[in-house]
Amino acid sequence: MAGRNHLFIPGPTNTPHEILSAMHVPMEDHRSPIFPKLLKPVLEDLKKIFRTETGQAFIFPATGTAGWEVAITNTLNPGDKVLIYRFGQFSHLWINMAERLGLDVEVHEIEWGKGIPLDHLEARLKEDNNHEIKAVLATHNETSTGVTSDISGVRKAMDASSHPALLFVDGVSSIASIEFRMEDWGIDAAISGSQKGFMLPAGLAVLAFSQKALKLTETATFPRCFLDLKDQMAQNALGYTPYTAATPMIYGLRKSIELLLDEGIDNVYARHYRLAEGVRKAITAWGLKLCAAPGFESDTVSAIVVPEGKDAKDVIGTAFNKYNISLGAGLTEVAGKVFRIGHIGDMNDVSLLGAIAGVEMAMLDNGFDIVPGSGVAAAIEYYRSTAK
Ligand SMILES: *Cc1c(COP(=O)(O)O)cnc(C)c1O
Repeated sequence: MAGRNHLFIPGPTNTPHEILSAMHVPMEDHRSPIFPKLLKPVLEDLKKIFRTETGQAFIFPATGTAGWEVAITNTLNPGDKVLIYRFGQFSHLWINMAERLGLDVEVHEIEWGKGIPLDHLEARLKEDNNHEIKAVLATHNETSTGVTSDISGVRKAMDASSHPALLFVDGVSSIASIEFRMEDWGIDAAISGSQKGFMLPAGLAVLAFSQKALKLTETATFPRCFLDLKDQMAQNALGYTPYTAATPMIYGLRKSIELLLDEGIDNVYARHYRLAEGVRKAITAWGLKLCAAPGFESDTVSAIVVPEGKDAKDVIGTAFNKYNISLGAGLTEVAGKVFRIGHIGDMNDVSLLGAIAGVEMAMLDNGFDIVPGSGVAAAIEYYRSTAK
């Protein structure tokens, strides 16, 4: 098929040509005296993306999943109680990891489509007088349902109950695209990966830890080796890594940070909001609904519920086979019930109009009762009227 595949999944996201070019380098000596000139500024500038002044950033040659494990094993002890809400596939997988690692996991089930219930969290923490809960695990952007939780609200709930628990935030599909303020929100572990907002291939866990969390690496008793933060801290201080550096990925990350900071991180958030808003206008014009309840809509991914009697897998299949566009599938509980448009990373008005048009064609082909051109028309008007 001539023309390229159009990628609208919420990760891996499209890699800008500037990043691809920056990664296209010969291999080099990662123990040379000049290597620290690459690594040190990257780790320093990452703090501007996480928005922390007092925290410290890290990269591991791994993925976001490893980031969860770095946070847990470096700061907690086997048997520690942690609190987490399950409202989608990624919060589910984090729970699964916490259980398999031997934490005492207090899980609260939330309807898929909603996020962290702040009142419940505050009440539960107030009840925990003995401070048995050692950490709150919060999934900022639940990628499977397109739900964004209010992390500033989570911090307020923790402060209102004067609870000393650590706050871990999975920001894999929010950091570098949805407002994220590690310092202001008192986050102890912020977890991301290279293939979402950073617009790189998968292959790096991109993390930041508070000083409070880093202090705990001295006493945490979980066995760990490859994922030990102490080894990273010792080597990073010298500008090196404890094992072979993924050098091309670090060049790519340097370019990614440069692109994000050149645009301005607040402008990056605003762009994601505006592009997402156009997609939401299209969804409304089709007469369809988001999986996300009002107030929880994500600016990086929209999970769209198909009408009764329709299978979202058919839309995704037609879109891919006939129009060469890739959409996100519904996972586990919402399999067949939703399809997802990823609007994260290197996107602009016209890229999203391509997604909306492709989805519209695939829905019409599958007998959806929608007006041809209605979604595109709604998005066009929104984008035109809000373009600078
Ligand atoms: C993609 C994603 C992950 C998992 O990341 P991997 O890089 O696949 O390990 C975790 N959490 C969220 C919210 C995600 O979107």
